[in-house]
Amino acid sequence: MNYLNFLLILSTSLLFSCGNPAEQANAAALSGKEVEPDNFKYWVWTTADPNRPDASYTEEFKKYSENGIEAVLINTNTDPRLLSRLAPLAKKEGLEVHAWIMAMNRPGDTVALKHPDWYAVSRDGNSTFDTRPYVEYYQWLCPTREDSRNHVLSLVEGLAKVDGVASVHLDYIRFPDIFLPIGLLPKYDLTQEEELAEFDFCYCEVCIAEFEEMHHKNPGEFENPALDMEWKQFRLNKIKAVVDDAYEIVHNNDKILTAAVFPYPEMADHMVRQRWDKWKIDAVLPMIYNNFYNEETDWIGFATKQGVADLAAKDVDLHTGIYVPTMSAEEVKQAIELARENGAKGISFFDGNALTPQQLEVIKSFGKK
Ligand SMILES: [Zn+2]
Repeated sequence: MNYLNFLLILSTSLLFSCGNPAEQANAAALSGKEVEPDNFKYWVWTTADPNRPDASYTEEFKKYSENGIEAVLINTNTDPRLLSRLAPLAKKEGLEVHAWIMAMNRPGDTVALKHPDWYAVSRDGNSTFDTRPYVEYYQWLCPTREDSRNHVLSLVEGLAKVDGVASVHLDYIRFPDIFLPIGLLPKYDLTQEEELAEFDFCYCEVCIAEFEEMHHKNPGEFENPALDMEWKQFRLNKIKAVVDDAYEIVHNNDKILTAAVFPYPEMADHMVRQRWDKWKIDAVLPMIYNNFYNEETDWIGFATKQGVADLAAKDVDLHTGIYVPTMSAEEVKQAIELARENGAKGISFFDGNALTPQQLEVIKSFGKK
């Protein structure tokens, strides 16, 4: 953001954002925008450590509830026992609990590691079993193979059976990034102007054979695979099929299905083969992390609006996800306002432990408690 933009945002926020929630609702009503202060939900993502004592978790959960946060998405590294321990502690502090799972990216999964053939294979023939794209923790399962997808679904079921959990929350429910967020490219010293073979998945023999039977052409022989729409659609459908099956499983256990997804559907499609507006799902939490994409805060409003519009015909709620470590308290305030004004049903913060006292104060000022 340049200095002029900063001044503009600062002056705009001073003019329009002071005051209590009732005044904000009134101002929104005057501007014709829909705001339901009592129904707007505040979430955090947080990652659990089995070695932390209960008292430490109680302190963390209390911090959230005392500042108006109502729901906590807990990553237990897919451990139903740890989740069973933490869910009552969170609920005791008045929080709704969601079971966050890394779905297709399963680094160090001890069951999957016994089956090297379960892993996604790149266009240049490397398996993420032993060749990781971008980072060490990228170890992705193939969504097409019966055994690898059923493994993921069995993990979903294990979390869905935990008492006191409201939803199973799918994360990494996609292919590896064919395009990395533009703001992250310098970090990896990468240039991506086309779909590069080492980041293009999945070319395992099962994916190729199934696609070839359906479409009578072999993606391994395409001159430019990015131009083949059936090949793109095949992969979008494979992720959707895992989600749709997960939906049935969690609903059979009286839970709902939520997911952390890319900012809006076409962008998700372009970057990670993820078309979440077509899924069977109850709520999505798009990670509208403006700083990853070299975008300014107002982009949070744009992306929220786009996703909400794309879900208009469906009974799916959208809660905007924001990345707080690089945001000032003032920017968090703007992000909350942008999410509300553009039709989100809530906002989620990544991550809970990164929230500063100033940011928590802003969240609290929106006045739930
Ligand atoms: Zn495959």
